[in-house]
Amino acid sequence: MAAEEVAEPQERHFHIRWDSILGHGRQKDELRRLLSQGRLPHALLLTGPEGVGKKLLGRVLAAAVLCEHPADGAAPCGRCPSCRAMESASHPDYYELLPEVRGKGTRIIRIESIRELTELAARYPVMSDRRVLLIDEVDLMNEPAANSLLKTLEEPPGEVTFILVTAARSALLDTIISRCMPLAFGVLAREDIAAALVKRGAAGEQAAEIAALSDGSLGRALQMYASGGLERRDSAIRFLEGLRSLGMTTIWREAEAMEKWGREELAEWLLYLNMSLRDMLVLYEDGSSPLIYQEDCRARLAALLPDFPVRKIFLLLACVKEMQKRLGTNVNLRLQLEGLFIRMKDVSDR
Ligand SMILES: [Zn+2]
Repeated sequence: MAAEEVAEPQERHFHIRWDSILGHGRQKDELRRLLSQGRLPHALLLTGPEGVGKKLLGRVLAAAVLCEHPADGAAPCGRCPSCRAMESASHPDYYELLPEVRGKGTRIIRIESIRELTELAARYPVMSDRRVLLIDEVDLMNEPAANSLLKTLEEPPGEVTFILVTAARSALLDTIISRCMPLAFGVLAREDIAAALVKRGAAGEQAAEIAALSDGSLGRALQMYASGGLERRDSAIRFLEGLRSLGMTTIWREAEAMEKWGREELAEWLLYLNMSLRDMLVLYEDGSSPLIYQEDCRARLAALLPDFPVRKIFLLLACVKEMQKRLGTNVNLRLQLEGLFIRMKDVSDR
């Protein structure tokens, strides 16, 4: 299946049924209860790990708020003009504010965006009784933006519901948190993620492998599935297997090739290196307990142990962590990769 077929639909279509959101039964029940009792607060804060469906759930909630005759007062009917507008991602009373990307991948929400949002909130709704405004990654507001949003939350300018979404609750002002009803989301169950992957065309075994590596994030699992994540895992383990015989020519060639992957894929590759090394530590500790991340690669990882005593694994982990940190900064990737490979080779030669 082609990558674009498995990626979550982005802006052209929204799913607006509660059961289109994987997991989170308790949170959905709570929201439906508040909706049916007409007690939904004017500002909600959805918190929890990346890729577990917070924003998608925010859209269903918005559809329910805007629907002309929601079923049981809590579920979008799917037929009224409002629901159809939500489904086609074109509802005039629903707006999503996303961080803007500046320069080298830095993302930020500035005060100008919050001001626009506040003006929007003050206008009469066009189609429904109120407006719903969702701010994704709200933790990326800078200070002026945060203060501006706080003022808006304290004195909402019109009939408006705010849905704030974040994976980094602690980065928010306490005063903003206290103006919202918080709703915390946990990670998804492995079986649920595997089932969702199978639905999208993955083979059972592959789905189970990816689900085990996804850390409970469907977003990450889909990304791995779409981008051939298992190939990158294979490449990471192969790198460890070839580390002792790594020559300078290969180092230069590999760094040049991997620079073209881009930061996200490199981050994934480093994550696999990190997980492989940590699994090797588990093998040392207790050869009989299941590995944390890659049980299905046990034999390959075990075969590496004679060349990598615990001391070396810790040194290699430090190299990988350092590189993971640098990846987020504005550095020359090719030089950094060369440096990483040389340092890791040094460790393995010691
Ligand atoms: Zn409807």
